[in-house]
Amino acid sequence: MTLSYSLTATDGAARAGTLHTAHGEVQTPVFMPVGTAGTVKGMTADAVRSTGARIVLGNTYHLMLRPGAERVARLGGLHRMMDWQGPILTDSGGFQVMSLSALRKMDKDGVTFQSHIDGSKHRLTPERSIEIQHLLDADITMSFDECTPHPATHEVAAKSMRLSMAWAERGRRAFVPREGYGLFGIVQGSTYADLRAESVKALTDIGFEGYAVGGLAVGEGQEAMFATLDVTTPLMPQDKPRYLMGVGTPDDIIGAVARGIDMFDCVIPTRSGRMGRAYTSQGVLNMRNARHCDDGSALDPACDCPACTRHSRAYIHHLIKSQEMLGPILLTWHNIRYYQQLMARLRAAILAGRFAEEAAAIRAGWSTPA
Ligand SMILES: [Zn+2]
Repeated sequence: MTLSYSLTATDGAARAGTLHTAHGEVQTPVFMPVGTAGTVKGMTADAVRSTGARIVLGNTYHLMLRPGAERVARLGGLHRMMDWQGPILTDSGGFQVMSLSALRKMDKDGVTFQSHIDGSKHRLTPERSIEIQHLLDADITMSFDECTPHPATHEVAAKSMRLSMAWAERGRRAFVPREGYGLFGIVQGSTYADLRAESVKALTDIGFEGYAVGGLAVGEGQEAMFATLDVTTPLMPQDKPRYLMGVGTPDDIIGAVARGIDMFDCVIPTRSGRMGRAYTSQGVLNMRNARHCDDGSALDPACDCPACTRHSRAYIHHLIKSQEMLGPILLTWHNIRYYQQLMARLRAAILAGRFAEEAAAIRAGWSTPA
């Protein structure tokens, strides 16, 4: 059987469930740390696992350019190459082609582009994207789609979404079913309710193991993102996982879980960690700030990660100011652990039927004077 999902409990629109994959089970709602180039930057696979993370992301665009998908396959696949034995989700490359590559040229069959690394010429089609993700050995393969720019007129968004739906069908035909592996379709349509509905219908007619909401977190703002989810998730199948791509802050995640989303990925915890920012139970801390220089207290007194249990705010501030590599490593570790603790709290609250109260309590903590 291909990858499957079982829904355990609901509380309002919020859902708790389990993903069953070739490389193990994942409890949802879940946050997936981003391992763009075959590594969650600064973290060993053991360290990532110790945070509670059970599934990570890989990136088709980056890995096809370097070290190359065929080479990853020869090295035993992405799990073996990066020593991550849990499930892996790979994105399709469409978003990065649009945001990173030079001299890209779109046609109805795919995209031709130059590598941002060495200028070499490459082509991605729906079929090639699926093939690359197969070579990487992704448990969850994402459909190749066009990233609709924001803002987009209704006409532009409709045309872009319909192209992505045609590509989703081609990808479905190209996908090789394997035990515990699955292909997700991606709902597009910008912020237009009618286009989102048309996209959900097109994808569910084709049939996928899971459904993602794409084209959000591209500058539309939280209010428009939540409004789009409000008109989209109620149309999505109950018995399949729902993944909101590229989201977000802890506050975005709580709001999206409340609207029926099960899966998230975002560079915020890792990228912020490298930039000296910590997401904590008391809100966001900038560890560059001189106010931390004599502070012997824990980064987050509610956290059990090594940064919080073995070091002081003053030491982490010193590491960041001194540009020591341990500073970003400790903050990345903490931020991923914070996100995992957040998801575990949300899941426990859904199972206990007190999601709204828990969400309010978490949000109230962020305004605690640190
Ligand atoms: Zn911590």
